[in-house]
Parts: sequence; C-alpha cells; structure tokens
Amino acid sequence: MVPSGRTSAVTAREGLQTSLQFLPGVGPRRARQLRRLDLETVEDALFFIPFRHEDRTRLTPLRSLAPGQAQSCSGTIVGMSPPPRGRPRVPFSVMLRDETGYATAIWFNAPYLERVFARGQRLVLHGKVARFRGAITIQHPDYEIVETGEDERVHSGRLVPMYHATEGLAQRPLRSLMWRIVETHTGSVVDPLPETLRARRELPGLAEALRAAHFPRAEAELAAARGRLAYDDFLVLQLGLGILRSRTTRARGIAMNPPGDLAARLRAALPFSLTRAQERVWAEIRTDMASPHPMHRLLQGDVGSGKTVIAALAVVTAVEAGYQAVVMAPTEILAEQHLMTFEQLLAPLGLPIALLTSAVKGRERAAGLKAAAAGELACVVGTHALVQEGVEFRRLGLTVVDEQHRFGVEQRARLRAKGEHPDLLVMTATPIPRTLALTLYGDLDVSLLDELPPGRRPVVTVARTEAKRPRIYAFLREQIAAGRQVYVVYPLVEESAALDLKAATEMAERLRTEVFPDLTVGLLHGRMSFAEKEGVMRRFKAGAIHILVSTTVIEVGIDVPNAAVMLIEHAERFGLSQLHQLRGRVGRGPFRSYCVLLPGNHPTEEARERIAAMTETHDGFRIAEADLRLRGPGEFFGTRQSGLPHFRVADLLRDVRILDQARQDALAIVAADPELRDPGHLGLRQALLARWRGKLDLASVG
Ligand code: ADP
Ligand code: MG
Repeated sequence: MVPSGRTSAVTAREGLQTSLQFLPGVGPRRARQLRRLDLETVEDALFFIPFRHEDRTRLTPLRSLAPGQAQSCSGTIVGMSPPPRGRPRVPFSVMLRDETGYATAIWFNAPYLERVFARGQRLVLHGKVARFRGAITIQHPDYEIVETGEDERVHSGRLVPMYHATEGLAQRPLRSLMWRIVETHTGSVVDPLPETLRARRELPGLAEALRAAHFPRAEAELAAARGRLAYDDFLVLQLGLGILRSRTTRARGIAMNPPGDLAARLRAALPFSLTRAQERVWAEIRTDMASPHPMHRLLQGDVGSGKTVIAALAVVTAVEAGYQAVVMAPTEILAEQHLMTFEQLLAPLGLPIALLTSAVKGRERAAGLKAAAAGELACVVGTHALVQEGVEFRRLGLTVVDEQHRFGVEQRARLRAKGEHPDLLVMTATPIPRTLALTLYGDLDVSLLDELPPGRRPVVTVARTEAKRPRIYAFLREQIAAGRQVYVVYPLVEESAALDLKAATEMAERLRTEVFPDLTVGLLHGRMSFAEKEGVMRRFKAGAIHILVSTTVIEVGIDVPNAAVMLIEHAERFGLSQLHQLRGRVGRGPFRSYCVLLPGNHPTEEARERIAAMTETHDGFRIAEADLRLRGPGEFFGTRQSGLPHFRVADLLRDVRILDQARQDALAIVAADPELRDPGHLGLRQALLARWRGKLDLASVG
C-alpha cells in the first residue's frame, strides 16, 4: 500500500517535528484534513488525545442485547429500510446479523444513510438499546463501517479511542493513522520531567503515557496516563507562573512608605470604619507598597465587600510618596464609573484626577496626556487599553486593575516590564474558585476580603414569571412609597445591541407614561455620552429618580445604598456572574433588599440552573463554582484571552488534586532554580519555551 520510495524519506525526516504529510499513507489531501484538526506534526498528533474510549473488549452478541444502557455490538448488514417518501418520522432502519442472531439499528432524520450503508457491510455500533414499537433496537448508535484489510486490534477487542473526526476523515481511518503514529513515534518522545520527580509522584513516563492515552490496555492504565498528561499541563503552567512571580519578588521596585497623612484623612472622611477584613488586607497592601520589591497582589472579595476604599487608600499612599497612580477597568463604562467613585474619594483631599479612555478625544485628551506626563495628575482612570496605548507618566508608582478576568497574565507581564516596576493591585469583580485563582493568578499574592460590612442582610432573591408582572409592579410601587429606589435592568447582547437598546428604551417609556406616570423614571444606556450618563447617575444618587431603567451598564461599580430593588428582565440572557454582580448593586444600605429575576419564555435548561443558583445562594464563591460547572473552564476563563498555555488534557474541575501537586512541585523547582538553568531542568525549560511561546522571556536553550 505504501510506495517504498516514501519510507526512506520518512526515515530521513524522523523525529517528532516531522510534518504529517510525509508519513506513509498521508498525502497532501489527508494532510489538509489533519490541519483542520490543528495537526501539523507528529508531535501534534501524539498529543491529539481521544475525547473518550469505548470499551469493546466484549462486544455484546446481538442475541443478548437488552434494553437499558448503551452497548457495543457488531454485525453484518442483511437488510435496510429507508423511510418511505413523505414520512420523515419513520426511522431509517438496518437489519444486522451475527453468529448469535439478528438485531435492528435505527436512526431518525437520517435519510442520507442510504448512501452510506450497503448490504454485506460489517458495522461496529455503540448506542442505547431500547424497545421501539415492540422490537429491541439500537437507537441512533455511533457506527463504524469495517473495511477489509484493517488491523482488527486497532478497532475492537479493546478500549478503543474515539477522536474528534473531521469532514472527509472518519473515525476509523483516523484511528488507524493514530495507531501507526503512536506505534512508530512514541519511542522518540523525550520525557521533560526529572526522573526523581516522576518517581516521587509515581507517574508513568511520557512515552508510555502517550501510548496508553491513545491505546490503553486497561482502564487503570488509561487513568494513569491521563493523570500524567494533566500533571504536565499543570506543571508547565505553574512553572511559568512561578517564574514570573519569583522575578517580581526579586526585582527592584519602588519603596513607598510615606507617613500616611493622606490615608488618614481619607479614612477620617469615610462615614464608616473599615471592617476587620479590610484592615487586614490594607495592612498587607501597605507592607507590599513599603517594600523595595514590586507589589503584585490580587484583591479578592465578593461584590459589596468594599474593595474600592482599599484601592483608594493605596492610591493616596502612592501619591503621598510622590508618585502617580493609574486605575484601569475592562470597559469604558466601568472606567467612567470608577472615575466618579474615585473623584468623590479624592476630591476632598485636593488630588487632581482625570479620565483617559478612547471616548475622551481632542483637546481634553491632549490635556490629560500632557498632565499625566508632566506629573500634574495624581491619578488617571482609564481602560485596560491604557497599557497598550503608551500613556506616559512622570512617576508612575501604582497600577490598580479592576480585572473581571479580562486582564490576562500577558498584560500583567507587559506592565511588569514597564520602567520602574510600579506596584500592581489587581481586583477581581467576581470571586473565583481557588483552582481558577491558582491558574489565572498563580503569579500574584492573594488578599482576601472575606467579610461584608456590618448590617448587610442577604438580598431576598426570587424568580417570577411574566404572569406576575402586575404584582411585581405593585411591589415596586410599595417600595418607592417607603422611600426606596429601584433598578430595572435590560440585557444588551452585542449581536443585537440595536434591538435590545430599542427594547430598553421602549420599556422605560412605557413605565414612565403608562405604569408609573406619577413617578420619575430614568434611563441609562451605553450609547449615551459620559456627561449624560453622569447626569442620570447623579440624579439617581440624589434620589431624584425613582426607577432607573438600564442596560447592563450598571453591572459593576454603581453604588446607591438607597436602591433596594433590582428587577432583572430577560434574566435568562445573563451569565451567572453578571447576575451576581447585578444583585450586588442592591443590599448596600440598611434596608431589606430584593432581587427579582424575570426570565422570558422558555429559558434553556442551563438558564434555569443559573436562575436556580441565584435563588439558592448569595455566596459569590459558590456562585462562581456553579458558573464554572455550568460553562466549563474553557468558557469561564478563555485561556487564549488570558495568554496562558492551553491544556492538552487537564480539566480544572476533575483534576484539582493533580493541580495542587504540580503547583507544589513547580514552586519547589523555581525556589531552587528560578530561571531553570540547571542541566537537569533542560527538558522542562524546553517544554516551557514551546508551550508558553516565548511569553516567558526565558533565555533560549543552549
Ligand atoms: P466592591 O467590593 O463590590 O467593589 P464597594 O467598594 O463598591 O464594593 O463597596 C460597597 C459598598 O459598601 C459601598 O457603598 C461602600 O461605601 C460600602 N462600604 C465599604 N466598606 C465599608 C465598611 N467598612 N462599612 C460600611 N460600608 C462600607
Ligand atoms: Mg467595585
């Protein structure tokens, strides 16, 4: 089958970097199909791990098929009956035979199968067995057509790997190819792990793990193989983060240790005293700022735990030490809101502050840039884009990032590289589970605000249906009569922003003219100018607006303690952390507060679970865990965006224990050999260079 001329060419190009195109039996066409799976080289293929394995050690004889679970079986096609024309509800059915008897397999909505199957073909099937019109059938099974001349060891009688196939490249030929690659090439895989570590953690060697991850001999072997590969994923990640972190702790930063007059004045002007958690966290930050090494600290705390005051204390401390500070938010609207908050806190101290986002243009922008560069501004508030846009400061001492998971490790590294190593304080708007914190922020020290200001009562959260709308409106009226204010929030989805905006505007109009003609209804949305938004916000804060209809612009940062009701329209369209953030806008004062979730008709199962999670718990960490579970880690924190190497096998939900081990090991390695110069760490160093794609600035190997 393989032209013999090719074989020697392959030998010549041996090695894991060999392009798949040069393997026997793979030509340009197949190589194109493989490229669609992101597979270019032999190494890529070896790490193309099956998404599951099917146990075909014992195929069920057709006569023994019994309704219940999914089963695997095999048989020859002895008859086919496509659905009659015009009767699409009748399934496509195939009669199969083996040595023991007959069975029927059926597929609904699959008339094309007529062109796929033929009498005499042998099929391997896996699917649920159930009764259909009285007969025992295999329903909608996965199937593979057995070709003559195939190596039977590959496809049956074992734990069989299932790969993500692609058009033109079906499961079976793909599996055959993977078998050949694994057989031929795992031998040349070099294990990056030091032997001592491997032995201590009782991990299989990499070559062995790769073989078993594809073609395991038993479940236990497969589990060990997956464990080893997941460990490698985590180790590479944690080593990189550990290196970044150790560089920070060793680097020379700015020691800012002023007497603390401004901080004392700021505190004296607050209408409350700090909670114990705030005091503790502030002491941690203060110590970091005073030290001659750059601070790299994450401030985690649930919505409403009072992170802003802490950030403001850090800002004024930097200013008192003679430096400037910058506060960055992920979006323009949030930056605008931060400006209002910080202005309020800093103005009494006479500290000049300005906004710099892409919406600030012309003369105002030029003036802002000039004042920042001249050192005249104590504090600049802007978007994350400020890092890229090259805003100049005369003496930047502190960067505060309001993160929302969107300010990735790469941007942090870029900040770190900036001149004088300013101190960095990252705040998460949503708490995140510990595993994710270690993953996303493993290069940072962590402070936790684990206490809410006193007197907070949990926000009463309920889900209601459209039929209850009149009752809900009556309730809003009662609350307003009692002196409270109300938010009504509309979703704004980017793809249909114009439509959504129209819906929000119309709703505001209807509330104003028909439902609450005697009350003041305000509208806030992202298309308004900063001045307009600010005007509405100020009036709402001053109590001049009873009901504020808003698109999600109020998601983070708005702080009106008198607002006690949050009505969320189309609650099914919000993500869980968004809902939690929105709910965090109420319950900020001494009043009992309410969050009413009003989903549209027919929410999806997942949306129902999100809403249920909201009514069941108020704990941001539990909400975050539910979010992670519902969306999966990929969506939850988008590795691409965060700039971290992606995982080949590791699963943040399943492999927490392995993550812990890898983290411990990584920290020990970095402590002993911070730049991986030890010859014994050469393999690890090469792995890091490859997987972090140059983002670590490791001196190259050699
Ligand atoms: P978040 O952590 O969500 O950013 P904020 O900083 O916006 O929380 O604080 C939420 C609210 O709690 C604000 O109204 C703030 O003024 C108030 N607050 C902060 N700290 C305290 C405290 N120690 N005692 C009482 N209220 C506080
Ligand atoms: Mg905040």
